[in-house]
Amino acid sequence: MFSKEDNILRLKDASRAMEICNACRYCETLCPVFPQITQFRTFDKPTLNYLSNLCHNCKGCFHGCQYAPPHEFDLNIPKTFSELRVDSYIQYAFPNILGKLFAKNGTVVSILIAVCIGLLFIVGTYFNSADSLFTAYEGKGSFFKVIPYEIMTLVSGLIFFHVIIAFIVGFRRFWTENGDKMSELKDLSLWKYAMGAAATLKHLDGGDNGHGCNHIDDRFGHSRKWFHHAVMYGFILTLISTTLAAIYHHFLGLHAPYDFDSLVVITGTLGGILMVIGCIGLTYIKIKADPIPISQKLLGMDYSFIAMLALVNITGLLLLVFREGAWMPSLLCIHLGFVLAFFLMMPYCKFVHLLYRLGALLKYAKYVRNN
Ligand code: SF4
Ligand code: SF4
Repeated sequence: MFSKEDNILRLKDASRAMEICNACRYCETLCPVFPQITQFRTFDKPTLNYLSNLCHNCKGCFHGCQYAPPHEFDLNIPKTFSELRVDSYIQYAFPNILGKLFAKNGTVVSILIAVCIGLLFIVGTYFNSADSLFTAYEGKGSFFKVIPYEIMTLVSGLIFFHVIIAFIVGFRRFWTENGDKMSELKDLSLWKYAMGAAATLKHLDGGDNGHGCNHIDDRFGHSRKWFHHAVMYGFILTLISTTLAAIYHHFLGLHAPYDFDSLVVITGTLGGILMVIGCIGLTYIKIKADPIPISQKLLGMDYSFIAMLALVNITGLLLLVFREGAWMPSLLCIHLGFVLAFFLMMPYCKFVHLLYRLGALLKYAKYVRNN
């Protein structure tokens, strides 16, 4: 995505910007990045990786800065940090090659994977019984008449296992890069601060002024925070739904599909609708936003992430509506294709910001604790 020369120039530029900000300090109350930089005299790559993941891209320091373009200092911290962040995702990715592949063309790679997995299920189902792809099934266990339970569990289990390993390795690389020890994570006060800030998206309030982000232009607003909330809590609700479904299946002997008034369907549907709303809102903000503080090179990666998330949920909602019709088998294969492809890309796409942002908040919690 970026050449070696690009990366060296960006690091120099980011380091220069941080030194200017350290002297200026005008933005000190805007977000955690600015109080944190006062602790550094020089800015090497690990420090910049940490700071860029602590940034939540509110663009306040661009619109408020007297040295932003057209000033000759040309400070554009949101853009520089967003490129540094993506570079850090590639650096921490496990295996590294997948990080590079997704960074090169995330949209094509994710759609290809989704189509491959979906096709795999369709072909498997067709060989199982040529009619089953176009048959209306009713009653409990109908999903497993299309894709046998063992196949569904094996494929999703392998992908889930891979994702967990990639997250653990990536987080460890991020956390220890600045010399922090894994054992420091035993301090529950760090988790209390970081989880509190993440759950409330506290820093998207726009620092001390509380007016929100400059997500579109120099006007302040809270809509970006609410759309992020919709995506985050929607995702949590769908995770709750999947966990409940696993408990019902394994411990209560109750098999999908579940009734419309069951907790599995209610949490899953609510989560899906919230995520679709969040995706539409975030796309609108991206389209409308002032392009100068945005890295145009990264827009494709952003849109592919939002599109995949929306497709996972839209196909899931369609499956819910048509689950008793003849379209159910094909819809189930397509939906599973998107779900599994999304899970597979989670450690390499923008989703991983969640992990490193949490890590950066944990590091920042150390600064808060010590000051
Ligand atoms: S972004 Fe600009 S205004 Fe803000 S601290 Fe840095 S130099 Fe000062
Ligand atoms: S864009 Fe917002 S969060 Fe990022 S450094 Fe600037 S003020 Fe802080």
